Amino acid sequence: MNLFESIAANDHEQVIVFQNRASGLRGFLAIHDTTLGPALGGVRIKRYASDEEALADALRLSRAMSYKAALAELPAGGGKTVIPLPASANDWNRVEAMEALGKMIQSLGGRYYCGTDVGITRDDLAAIGRATQYVADESLAALGDISEHTAIGVWHALRACLEFAGLGKPRVAIQGVGNVGMWLARILHREGFPLTVADMDASRAAQAAGEFGAEIVSPDEILSVECGVLAPCALGGVISVESAARVRAKIVCGSANNILVSPEAGDALARRGIWYAPDYLVNAGGIIRGAEYYLSNRADSRPSLEKIYTRTKLVLERARESDMATARIADEMAESRLKRPKHFRDLHWGSALQ
Ligand code: NAD
Repeated sequence: MNLFESIAANDHEQVIVFQNRASGLRGFLAIHDTTLGPALGGVRIKRYASDEEALADALRLSRAMSYKAALAELPAGGGKTVIPLPASANDWNRVEAMEALGKMIQSLGGRYYCGTDVGITRDDLAAIGRATQYVADESLAALGDISEHTAIGVWHALRACLEFAGLGKPRVAIQGVGNVGMWLARILHREGFPLTVADMDASRAAQAAGEFGAEIVSPDEILSVECGVLAPCALGGVISVESAARVRAKIVCGSANNILVSPEAGDALARRGIWYAPDYLVNAGGIIRGAEYYLSNRADSRPSLEKIYTRTKLVLERARESDMATARIADEMAESRLKRPKHFRDLHWGSALQ
């Protein structure tokens, strides 16, 4: 597929290829859809095998952000910045590169707001913030910890799944106890759930064991732990048609983006009677907080996070009624909202997504 075919395939509005020779900055900014409002999406800094792979990631992730914002009923769309990490730290001046990126984002005049993502540090965000106002600055106490908001959203989705499946407080297996996974472990421990965790970083797993009494298993074992809920909170691409066969949980519900390798992987879970809570519905807590703080000036987003419970229930019920996989139901709902004209955007869930 050539560049324009890729962009057309998911109907992206704009893709910016940027470079700043002085600092060594280069990368892609994909703006997927601004029908409902400005595009929101983090800056990912990561090593890629090729520039094509980095562009594909920007296209895929920005689309997911539009779907996430649409399903969360936010007056926002989706975007994503992807910066391939240079081979050596000497190949760029990271601080100047972030400032140059900030200038580029500022030049878009609020069409795109950036924030945290894989590989970006607080120093990076601070450097971006010196050049643009369109950045979610987590050092602001009033904004709060985005990962905590995401974890609270996962908790609401998980509650909905447990109720729907008629489960009480079963064991929850968390894959990855990083920023979100650790917050989720904290919440679940407080609520009285037994936990199993795995992390590539042994010190993170040990911290969860020490603070929350979690059992530790190896990263290779976590998918097939016998439990009520598998919560993927590391990287995406966890459930394929093949790996779905190994899952021994009754529910899959976690914060990771793009948990399913393909829609068929969701079908494979559904065929085995495993309820999958669609990732971009579950992990919208962070974007809800960012959008409400920056676009609506809201002091507290907890009431909005609770709506993730209702939405998850709705998706599960529709999946059961229609005998379709939950991920396909969520996609249909998000697409129907994105296709609606702007003046319908304030209609609330239920009436807006018939
Ligand atoms: P993070 O980097 O802080 O945590 C990820 C953790 O997973 C790390 O501790 C890492 O060591 C571990 N890990 C990596 N590969 C693993 C593997 N194969 N098995 C077990 N552990 C592994 O990231 P985060 O901010 O907590 O985000 C986690 C996921 O949630 C990501 O997919 C992210 O895109 C998604 N997400 C995060 C937010 C947020 O607010 N931070 C919002 C929406 C979605």
